Formats: sequence, C-alpha cells, structure tokens
Amino acid sequence: DCLFCKIIHKEIPSEIIYQDADLTIFKDINPAAPVHLLIVPNQHLAFVSEMEPGDEVLLGKMFSGAKIAAEMNGIDQTGYRLIINNGPDAHQEVLHFHMHLLGGGKMRHPMG
Ligand code: AMP
Ligand code: ZN
Repeated sequence: DCLFCKIIHKEIPSEIIYQDADLTIFKDINPAAPVHLLIVPNQHLAFVSEMEPGDEVLLGKMFSGAKIAAEMNGIDQTGYRLIINNGPDAHQEVLHFHMHLLGGGKMRHPMG
C-alpha cells in the first residue's frame, strides 16, 4: 500500500520519464524547481537504515539515473541538486526511499 510502488507498477498515473529493471524516474507532482524529478528504486525500501549489504549497487544506479535524467532535461551543464530526505526531522513524506533531482534555475544554498 505504498504510493511510489503504485507509481512504479503503473497502478496510478504519473509522468515517468525513465524506467529500467532497477529504477523509475518521474516528475514530482509539486515541483520545487523548473526541473524536479524523483529517482526511485523499483524495490521497496523505506529508509536508508533498511539498506542491506548488496544494496550499494542499487545506490550507484540511482546516481547513474540522475546523470541520465539531467542529460535528458538539458541541465547536465548548468547544474542540479540531489536530495535524500530520510526520516521525520528531514520531512520525508513518502516512506519509499527516493532521491530528488532539482535544477533548471539558480537555487539558494541549502545551508545558507
Ligand atoms: P519527501 O518529502 O522527500 O518524501 O518527498 C516526497 C515527494 O513526493 C514530494 O516532493 C511530493 O511532491 C512528491 N509526490 C507526492 N505524491 C506524488 C505523486 N502522486 N506523483 C509524483 N510525486 C509525488
Ligand atoms: Zn514502495
């Protein structure tokens, strides 16, 4: 009963821009930047703390997905930010591990 699992399995609509055996990349429904994508492992995993030995490969594939998605959106030269919100203090809302890709315009520095 997970929102992102439903998106991955196309049980609810979304704007998927890339999908392979390991990853699904789709547009964030409430974009915080001109380009705002979510890079999501197809395998359900809620938190970083649920990572197991062997999942390192999957993490690497998420970064490869970010590179592909940035190129597809023409922001590989201008830059982008990759964010993982993990747990309540970081305001993780969807409990299926994911990485945000934000770009397409100058952003403020997140640490001020
Ligand atoms: P987080 O706070 O890191 O868990 O981020 C969850 C993100 O999922 C937010 O940026 C939401 O805008 C986004 N989101 C929620 N529902 C959907 C949906 N149905 N399709 C696409 N993105 C969604
Ligand atoms: Zn899930």
